[in-house]
Amino acid sequence: MERKGLIYEGKSKVVYASSDPQKVIVHFKDDATAGDGAKRGTIKGKGEINCIFTKLMFRMLEKKGIPTHFLDQIGPDEMLCWKVKIIPIEVIVRNWVAGSLAKRYGKEEGGKLRSTLLEHNLKDDSLHDPMVSEYHIQAFGWASKKEYDAISRMALQVNRILKPYFDRRGIMLVDFKLEFGKKGSQILLADEITPDGCRLWDKATKKKLDKDRFRRDLGGVEEAYQEVLARVQS
Ligand code: UDP
Repeated sequence: MERKGLIYEGKSKVVYASSDPQKVIVHFKDDATAGDGAKRGTIKGKGEINCIFTKLMFRMLEKKGIPTHFLDQIGPDEMLCWKVKIIPIEVIVRNWVAGSLAKRYGKEEGGKLRSTLLEHNLKDDSLHDPMVSEYHIQAFGWASKKEYDAISRMALQVNRILKPYFDRRGIMLVDFKLEFGKKGSQILLADEITPDGCRLWDKATKKKLDKDRFRRDLGGVEEAYQEVLARVQS
C-alpha cells in the first residue's frame, strides 16, 4: 500500500493517506511526550514495539468481538487502518488507583478500587484534557447519548478481556486510555493500545513497565517496553 499525503501528525504517530481513500497508514514514532507535550524525548525502538503491541491487542480484541480500525501491519512500525473520524473523547478505564486519580482524590497509588472506574476526558492538550461527564459530552455535541453508551460499554468490555489477559502474563493492568472513531455510523476502537497509554505493573514486584518510566525519569524505559512486549508475545 502506497503512502500518499500526510493527514495528521500527532505526538507519537503520523497518519498518511493511502491509495485507498477509505484506508490510512498509521506510522508509530519513537518520540515520547508527557505532561500534554511539555516534556519531550525519544524511546529507542518504541515505534516498532508499539506497532506490534497494538496489532496483537487489536487482533485479539477483534477475535473477541470488538470492532477495531486495524487492518494489517504493513511495515515494522506501520499499520493499515480504516479511516475513521475520531470521537474527541478519551475513555479511561481504571482497575487500581494511579496517576491523576491518586492526585485528584488524595489516594495512594496502587490502592484498590471497589469497582472498575470509567472516566471520560476531552481530547484537547491545550485544555489539558479536562474530565467531562456524559452531560458535557451531549451538551457540547462531542458525541450523542447512543455513542457515549456504546464507547463506554466497549471500553468496559475491552477491560474484561485485557485484565485477565495481562494477569495471566504476570502483569497488573492498572489503567488505560482508549479512543474510538466512526466509519460512517459504525463505531470502531481506534488509535492504539500500547505501554504509552496503559499502566502495566509487574504483579510480583509492582515494577512499572510503561510510559511512567519516561514520565517520572525512572530509567530503563527501552528495557521495560521490550519486556512487556516479550510477555505478551509469550
Ligand atoms: N493516558 C493517555 N493519554 C493521556 C492521558 C492519559 O494515554 O492524554 C493514559 C495513561 O497512560 C494512563 C491512563 O490513561 O494509563 C490514566 O492516566 P491519568 O489520568 O492517570 O493521567 P496521567 O497521570 O498520565 O497524567
